[in-house]
Amino acid sequence: MAEFSIIETYFNRQQQNDVDLGVGDDSALLSPPLNHQLVICTDTLVAGRHFPLETSPHAIGWKSVAVNLSDIAAMGAKPHSILLALSLSQIDHDWLKQFSQGLYDCCDQFGVRLIGGDTTQSPHLTITVTALGWIETGKAITRSGAQVDDLIVVSGSIGDAAFGLKHLGHPLQQRLDYPTPRCELGAMLKDLASSMIDVSDGLAQDLGHILDASGVGAKINLNQLPIQPALRQLSDNEQWKYALAGGDDYELCFTITMQNYAKLLQLKPNVTTTIIGQVTQKSGIVFEKDGLDHPLQLQGYQHFA
Ligand code: ADP
Ligand code: MG
Repeated sequence: MAEFSIIETYFNRQQQNDVDLGVGDDSALLSPPLNHQLVICTDTLVAGRHFPLETSPHAIGWKSVAVNLSDIAAMGAKPHSILLALSLSQIDHDWLKQFSQGLYDCCDQFGVRLIGGDTTQSPHLTITVTALGWIETGKAITRSGAQVDDLIVVSGSIGDAAFGLKHLGHPLQQRLDYPTPRCELGAMLKDLASSMIDVSDGLAQDLGHILDASGVGAKINLNQLPIQPALRQLSDNEQWKYALAGGDDYELCFTITMQNYAKLLQLKPNVTTTIIGQVTQKSGIVFEKDGLDHPLQLQGYQHFA
């Protein structure tokens, strides 16, 4: 089957139509809304590196979209569309059918369209998705706006995906395979948060990026980390390792004033949020347990380790 019929069969579905020109021409065309900036990001998933080889094709399709929507959400922006660059080692129709279904399921859930891409052959299965979104000019939440005394807040629960990876077959594998990009929360925070990041490489490392970019430090209360019951069975140190150094959660971590956090809660976001600490002047992260300093040795996910 030629490249064109793969595209036609699996990646050219009719979708919600605010795209001027989608799949089928040399490029896609979009009309940016007035007074908005384009928000754009890309993420590659390599088989065996970013997901276990036995991951279901449907989950791979979902996740390749979700991780990108998470980056758009982390700017406070609304996702609009994606491009898909797919390198396949072989043409497997069953795989393509399930993969494209997973991809469209995630797109449909978050109101995103597939507007183009590229399809090639290579020895390794590699999926690169580029996501596009819009945000009112000047409203994007970057990593560099954290202010001393802001609260540090994280959505959902953390450590689940790393635990799921270590215990394949456990119900928490769902959190590894089907991460939920926090699009609604991200967009709500556009007028409220002072800085934001999505947690892909472990909370400590990702929060560290906010602190570095903002030139501040943090105090984190270990008692407050949102950890699922399944992980609560483990020793304290093991729980904290999953929660602080485990990757792939795709939750949002943000800094916000107390007043703005109260406003956020009034908006009733569709995911829980937990205050885990506070921004401080002194650089680095100080961990506390029961009101006392509690030093920890941690490492996040290293892409080139
Ligand atoms: P070109 O040779 O001009 O780069 P292609 O033959 O690669 O064009 O692609 C033809 C059309 O199909 C383009 O509109 C492209 O965006 C789209 N396309 C190719 N691969 C995919 C894919 N995996 N998913 C969605 N659209 C795709
Ligand atoms: Mg091409």
